[in-house]
Amino acid sequence: MAMIAENLKDVTQRISRSCEKSGRSPDDVKLICVTKEAELSQIEEALASGVRNIGENRVQDALVKHNAIGGRAIWHLIGHLQTNKVKDAVRIFSLIHSVDSVRLAKEIDAQAKRIDKVQEILIQVNTSGEESKFGVAPDETLKLFKEVRLYPDISISGLMTIAPEVDDPEKARPCFRKLRELRDELNSILNTQYSILSMGMTNDFEVAVEEGSTMVRIGRAIFK
Ligand SMILES: *Cc1c(COP(=O)(O)O)cnc(C)c1O
Repeated sequence: MAMIAENLKDVTQRISRSCEKSGRSPDDVKLICVTKEAELSQIEEALASGVRNIGENRVQDALVKHNAIGGRAIWHLIGHLQTNKVKDAVRIFSLIHSVDSVRLAKEIDAQAKRIDKVQEILIQVNTSGEESKFGVAPDETLKLFKEVRLYPDISISGLMTIAPEVDDPEKARPCFRKLRELRDELNSILNTQYSILSMGMTNDFEVAVEEGSTMVRIGRAIFK
């Protein structure tokens, strides 16, 4: 018990310090506790230590955990979503961070409509340009936004990105900055107020917070 509680406290303090450093309020940064590699008992410990938001990257794994934990947590899908898993995803996830195509949005809209839900989503952007990464290219994001916004049973709240794995977190900073600038540009062009920036993981969350992250997705620093 002590271990996970201690780790959470440490992560929370580090988020606060990065907020202080950049003149932000810690209330504006939500911690998504990534449980993809955690046992159910560890997730229970995290919940007992005050965790509310859980991130999973695979729908199948999340279904099993959701059966045990259900409404005691708010569920976030942070990994790539295949259209054949959308039905289950829409049932259990409050926020889907990984929408990167019209095809996927269309299926989410259809499944959400079926159960009378408006599904909140983020658009995943490939800010690093790595071939291996999912996400829409930065210069195609506006176009995707314009198309996805038309779906009545989807509500877009912002953007998500995954920085490259680098030895020095400073090297991830340009990706985070790019995502923030992209959000501000979209808001200015579309006259909208998309606010969420889902960015920052164990290796780089402090830099992400400095660059304006409003949701950090952290696994290993909590369940190490
Ligand atoms: C696994 C994962 C995380 C958490 O990574 P850690 O290094 O364990 O903090 C965050 N975001 C996504 C999309 C992930 O797949």
